Amino acid sequence: MENANYIASDTRYSHPEFYRRSGNSGILLPKISLGLWKNFGHTTDFLLAQELLHYAFDNGITHFDLANNYGPPPGAAEVLFGQVLNSSFSSYRDELFISTKAGYEMWAGPYGNWGSRKSLISSLDQSLKRMRTDYVDLFYIHRYDPATPLDETLQALVDIVRSGKALYVGISRWPLHATIYGLEYLKKEKVPCLCYQGRLNLLDRSPINEGILSFLRDNNCGFVSFSPLAQGLLAGRYMNGIPSNSRIRKETSLVADTLTDELHHQLLKLKHISEERNETMAQVALNWILHQDGVTSVIVGASTKEQLADSIQSAYCPKLTQEELDVLNKIYI
Ligand code: NDP
Repeated sequence: MENANYIASDTRYSHPEFYRRSGNSGILLPKISLGLWKNFGHTTDFLLAQELLHYAFDNGITHFDLANNYGPPPGAAEVLFGQVLNSSFSSYRDELFISTKAGYEMWAGPYGNWGSRKSLISSLDQSLKRMRTDYVDLFYIHRYDPATPLDETLQALVDIVRSGKALYVGISRWPLHATIYGLEYLKKEKVPCLCYQGRLNLLDRSPINEGILSFLRDNNCGFVSFSPLAQGLLAGRYMNGIPSNSRIRKETSLVADTLTDELHHQLLKLKHISEERNETMAQVALNWILHQDGVTSVIVGASTKEQLADSIQSAYCPKLTQEELDVLNKIYI
């Protein structure tokens, strides 16, 4: 069933400009990374998922973003990725940068959720088992836990790196005050935060508005953007109705009520620019994020190879002009 005879394309690293340094670390990440939140669970055909992963790697994507709870069901994406990692990707392990996370509900009881030391270390052990690997490259605390002392969460991250189960650590979705504290704590422990993962896209600029992106930039920490296409909205997936194979039809994370006339009106501005540039809406939307000072990578999702190909191409599109940026910067819901 698995295509273990895969040989990666020998042109996969022919575009050095496809990579950006994460903060002032030693790590280069691809401008376009692939996330496995959706489309890599039990409802996905294994061979299609494997083909998508091969296609990504063949085109220079070295960074694959997971979490303990990605599926469905939770854990399934790590199991699937582990199957590929231990077959067709097995000889490429050192070329891959694999991240996982813990912090959302994963198992029953008081220890399967949030940011305690117990929860984080147990969850990472489970992730390693599911992926059948000894270590991940990057381990994130997935969200801010107001009830657990920050020191407990941060010390667990430090100890995880010292145990060799992760090479780097990162923070996701923390508010600015906790991020400031976290970066300082990790720096003092000599386990610097490699990157912060937050939602930044044309419809949600919270990391800019809240001062998180500028703080990270000023403190030499990378930033990676999740849901850069607002789950497909910015890719024009719903400009002409709701396709039967779309996320709105298949998942609960995006709902039809989002599709207001006002949103449509805003998206038309993006569509207009993309037509003038002879690019797709996804390419312009991703390009806008990559244009923001301090952004290292965007983590796209994709349900087909064609979508991924389209998104990868954004890394090679000409820069947006000031005039185009002026219009895009005014897109707000
Ligand atoms: P996107 O915003 O990129 O949305 C992906 C969806 O958009 C696809 O499934 C597809 O929808 C559509 N799409 C993608 N590319 C194209 C294209 N070129 N043309 C047309 N449609 C396109 O990202 P996700 O929301 O999937 O998130 C990406 C990753 O971010 C996740 O996999 C995860 O790794 C990370 N993440 C992290 C979070 C955190 O808390 N830290 C939270 C959420 C995500 P369709 O399925 O309808 O075809």
